[in-house]
Amino acid sequence: MEPAPAQIERQRLDADIVCVGFGPATAGFLTTLSKQLVGADGTPVVESAVAPGMPPQVLCYERADDIGFGVSGVVTRARALQASLPNLKTAGIPMAAPVTEERMLYLLDPIGASRRSAGLRMADALIRGFKWMLPVEDDALKLPWTPSFLHKRGGMVLSMGQFMQWVGAQVQSSGTVQIWPGTPVSQALIEENRVVGVRLLDQGVDKEGRPGAGFTPGMDIRAALTVIGDGPVGHVSRQLDGQFGLPAGRHSRDWAIGMKFVVDLPENTPLRSGTVLHTFGYPEPEIFGFLYVHPDRLASLGVFVPSWFDSPVRTAYRYLQHWMLHPHLWRYLEGGKLRSWGAKTLGESGRRGEPYLVGDGYARIGEGSGSTNVLTGSGVDEAWATGTQLAEAVLELLKAKQPFTKQNLEASYVKRRRASWVDAEAVVAEKSRDGFQKGIVRGLVGMALAGLTKGKLSLDGEPVPPWKRISTLEEYYRGRIPAEQIAKLRDECHAKGISLHGALMDQVGWPAVPFDGRLLVSHQDVLLMGGKVQAPPGYGDHVVFLYPELCQKCGAKICIEACSGQALTPGENGTPRFDREKCVHCGACLWNCAQPVPGNPDVMNISFRAGAGGLHSAEN
Ligand SMILES: Cc1cc2nc3c(=O)[nH]c(=O)nc-3n(C[C@H](O)[C@H](O)[C@H](O)COP(=O)(O)OP(=O)(O)OC[C@H]3O[C@@H](n4cnc5c(N)ncnc54)[C@H](O)[C@@H]3O)c2cc1C
Ligand code: SF4
Ligand code: SF4
Repeated sequence: MEPAPAQIERQRLDADIVCVGFGPATAGFLTTLSKQLVGADGTPVVESAVAPGMPPQVLCYERADDIGFGVSGVVTRARALQASLPNLKTAGIPMAAPVTEERMLYLLDPIGASRRSAGLRMADALIRGFKWMLPVEDDALKLPWTPSFLHKRGGMVLSMGQFMQWVGAQVQSSGTVQIWPGTPVSQALIEENRVVGVRLLDQGVDKEGRPGAGFTPGMDIRAALTVIGDGPVGHVSRQLDGQFGLPAGRHSRDWAIGMKFVVDLPENTPLRSGTVLHTFGYPEPEIFGFLYVHPDRLASLGVFVPSWFDSPVRTAYRYLQHWMLHPHLWRYLEGGKLRSWGAKTLGESGRRGEPYLVGDGYARIGEGSGSTNVLTGSGVDEAWATGTQLAEAVLELLKAKQPFTKQNLEASYVKRRRASWVDAEAVVAEKSRDGFQKGIVRGLVGMALAGLTKGKLSLDGEPVPPWKRISTLEEYYRGRIPAEQIAKLRDECHAKGISLHGALMDQVGWPAVPFDGRLLVSHQDVLLMGGKVQAPPGYGDHVVFLYPELCQKCGAKICIEACSGQALTPGENGTPRFDREKCVHCGACLWNCAQPVPGNPDVMNISFRAGAGGLHSAEN
């Protein structure tokens, strides 16, 4: 018989500080902290409360298989990184390069399949009509001027994976911090509204989480301070939001899914290391793209599909391929080779999504704490900065022998954060993207206004949960695909157990992607390339449908259409089937659900829990 949860005996480990997740935020925290726990003579600057005579015991648990297995662009001004690491040189970090050139491109639609408003079509016609006097090349208009708030001058192009491995090695070599990859945290331990540590994920369980052969209950790690840096769709962050609520007026309704490829550019590439291209306008006007050039002919490139894109057919994978095939980009990419790929959610509510930053026994840092700047599209530097601010606060409290109470953390960490550039710039950015709620042109104008007036002016638009704005397939394709045809395609795809978006995109004129086995490969093949997606056995499913009856009556099934890894497919009785072996842990299904749970419009019908595995690459 299975043991009841209360009967499970768990091992317990005592630490001084325990961290959830090793992304840039926690890396900033541990880099700053680890340098100051021990004096030059090797003696502890402050003593551990759990290991007398030793420096504070600091443990960090990361769910991915190894350090640096996350996904990010990444171009960054690197202000906080350089402040923490004064000798930071791109030469010492694989795939790093100083930014040398920045270009902003508006992509016209060369095939006529994208869904453009009448206003945008008119603008496109004008650009084409006057292309002899405009900087238009291969169906792309190079904007003559990039606003200063978008510039990354003096910054760096990085591979987040390589950078995180480099930082992780440095932090661990300090000897004062332990980082444990492949170790998901299942929950924060909360006693009388105080966070007292974390519980690690149970192993040796079936898909439903029931103990089986080799059952090993997750250990309880108790600590005076729990640092939560679990990113935009972190399970522990959401647990705390559920327990403590969000401050009045705060919500996380704006998201994007970012999907990227790392490619070898062709041998004769004219693109210089450090080149940064940003695009908008194609494959759909709402989809933004990026291409950053690393040394040695490597490039990171990809697209963002935002939550305010009204389409119920929103797979990033196929859109990414059409974006690459745009003539302006294809001239750089043709002949290249795919090395790795990945996808990850970006929290785009920024400061509006800021939760309670501290409470008794805990502090929150990084994107899950609302640090990402939604105007400049910058998250790494900001996340890192919040980590360093917390580290300075923690050192102050440790030295003063002050406990990690809400009040003390407010007076040390939150005070530093409020006085910093991160907060000042987040205030400027807070309403900058609201205009996108009412259309792409309005959104771009709103961003420019907010950026140029330092947030004094912006265009309004109330952010609504994605499920409220996404129309049914029949509404979205009205006038382009008859409802009977959609019903027929739906039945055919369901019978084959595949998502519907490919068939629908074919119908409205998107050409088939010419797979070449090198750079353009099928969605199925990309999952297998280099064994990049892993799902260690013995863990429960981390994607769970809370109310299967809601799935059964759900028409759009956006979770399936949006899934980055083909891990969600049509299932029996209308509830999607989840295949852990294909899941890249991008988190898109969490916010791309068409149904909220009864009684809470901000909680979707998918629970995205802590889980092991996912992408197996440190290049992304
Ligand atoms: C495609 C893409 C391109 C981007 N481009 C840029 C760019 O060019 N410039 C820029 O500045 N920003 C960019 N960003 C944003 C940037 O990546 C994020 O803002 C940044 O990574 C946030 O850092 P973080 O430490 O807060 O969270 P994350 O980087 O999300 O790290 C959180 C970590 O916590 C781990 N974790 C989560 N839950 C658990 C758990 N339960 N137990 C243990 N570990 C857990 C995760 O595996 C992860 O490693 C991009 C994002 C994407 C997706
Ligand atoms: S998880 Fe959400 S979107 Fe997916 S089928 Fe269920 S209700 Fe629909
Ligand atoms: S099932 Fe996995 S791969 Fe698919 S959307 Fe959800 S988290 Fe991403």
